[in-house]
Amino acid sequence: MTLIPVPAFTDNYIWVLHDGRTALAVDPGDAAPLEQTLDSLGLTLQTILVTHHHADHVGGLARLRQRWPAAPVIGPAGEAIAGLDERVQDGDRRQLLGQSVQVLDLPGHTAGHVAYFIEAPSDGCAPLLFCGDTLFGAGCGRLFEGTPAQMQASLARLAALPGSTRVCCTHEYTLANLRFARHVEPGNERLAERERHDQALRAAGHPTLPSSIQLERDTNPFLRCDQAELQAAACLRAPHPARDGTPLAVFTALRDWKNRF
Ligand code: ZN
Ligand code: FE
Repeated sequence: MTLIPVPAFTDNYIWVLHDGRTALAVDPGDAAPLEQTLDSLGLTLQTILVTHHHADHVGGLARLRQRWPAAPVIGPAGEAIAGLDERVQDGDRRQLLGQSVQVLDLPGHTAGHVAYFIEAPSDGCAPLLFCGDTLFGAGCGRLFEGTPAQMQASLARLAALPGSTRVCCTHEYTLANLRFARHVEPGNERLAERERHDQALRAAGHPTLPSSIQLERDTNPFLRCDQAELQAAACLRAPHPARDGTPLAVFTALRDWKNRF
């Protein structure tokens, strides 16, 4: 199985997983770059997965359905998306490209946001997570429709996945997120190391993704709200101090702080 991030717009990735003949694609906000990649590799589109209803994730669906009418479009049961063939929700599984793909409900960025998780890829490689705009490299999505409690629960679910899980987010926001993370947690050496590593990747024109769940646990402030250093930072500097120090209060303060950073 080969995993490819296809760049779209200014900072989106359309993730493609293929076996050399057939492919699945996640969140095709734009059809053209995906079609170019599939055509250049001689791949047939077998299935399209959608995480949520935002235009930069679904904008290519109409054109792709015309070109590949046999490829079903699978998306969240809880969102109004034109052109879905199958609506899925938490716990559903689909057999795609010979992989068992599990659906996780992850409300927060949008109310019905889902992710797709392949726990045991058939090639023996690490698990794969397509998490849309929920978890980003060193950050998380904005709360457009959900509550902080929902988003924090969604992120906690992702943090509990195997550490080796490859995290395939839809946006290349990692360096900007790392600047905030370093500001909040200046003493985290693993974070400093990640920033140097990911800056070098971007300077060479490479994606910073996929990251891994373990790397996110170690460096993503939104997965570290139970850590004393994050609690202290949120209390001192966030506009709405997290006085009770619970992970939810720290998360809420951090998300608000990041919005203004
Ligand atoms: Zn979005
Ligand atoms: Fe997006």
